Amino acid sequence: MLKQKPHVLVLSGLDPSGGAGIQADIQAITALGCHPLPIVTCLTEQDTVNVHGAEGVDATLIERQLMHLRADIPIHAVKTGAMGSATVVEVLRAFLDSGPALPLVVDPVIKAAGGGELADEALLAAMKEHLFPLAQTLTPNGPELLQLGGATDEAASARTLLETGCASVLATGGHGTGSHLENRLFRADGREQSWQLERVGGEYHGSGCTLAAGISAGLASGHDPTQAIEQAQSFVARAIAGALQVGAGQPVPDRSVRP
Ligand code: PLP
Repeated sequence: MLKQKPHVLVLSGLDPSGGAGIQADIQAITALGCHPLPIVTCLTEQDTVNVHGAEGVDATLIERQLMHLRADIPIHAVKTGAMGSATVVEVLRAFLDSGPALPLVVDPVIKAAGGGELADEALLAAMKEHLFPLAQTLTPNGPELLQLGGATDEAASARTLLETGCASVLATGGHGTGSHLENRLFRADGREQSWQLERVGGEYHGSGCTLAAGISAGLASGHDPTQAIEQAQSFVARAIAGALQVGAGQPVPDRSVRP
């Protein structure tokens, strides 16, 4: 009898430095015991310092890829990162609407850590309209949360995002300062939870992707959202503790560490 693993459909961009994007997703999902089904939404021109450009993949190709996957392979969870264009978001929404409900983790990627843009206003509006309402968890970092929620504090911004219909918002604290960072989970039912994690210091290229992909692997494996978040957080902490110096910019989490 052949082995089977949970399958995570993941849509995100290709980062040729191997730090963020689809490579981070594939490595994290694999390390956490699932089989990734990767769809590349955009090809970035990027190194460990910054994004220098990006080209979207044709949305009709992505539509065909999704249909072929569905016809062949059971899907247990979905994770999105950089989406390339509003049209790709619309294609994914139509795909999700035409099948059974799946746990969806949306990492609302706006900028690379070096400041390079990975989403324009039309893409952000499409994510809010089409993906946020279906999401089990959104995983914005601090700046993304304030930009998307339009408020000056994180809690108010998270509550605004919950109005889109998502079940929870995990505000990640990696971009702050101090010896500890706090990840805060805001749920649609009003319950809040937070985790204080030791800050290793510095910023790591692809840590947000790694966390969101890790959560999607936990959900695909049948963990509840809290367990999935905790498992992903400790995986990210270990990957960062053993981070790799790849180029002159940010180190890259080593996602080959044992979970
Ligand atoms: N997705 C892609 C394709 C990227 O290039 C980047 C950043 O460079 C990200 C996502 C976000 O990366 P991080 O996990 O560092 O937030």
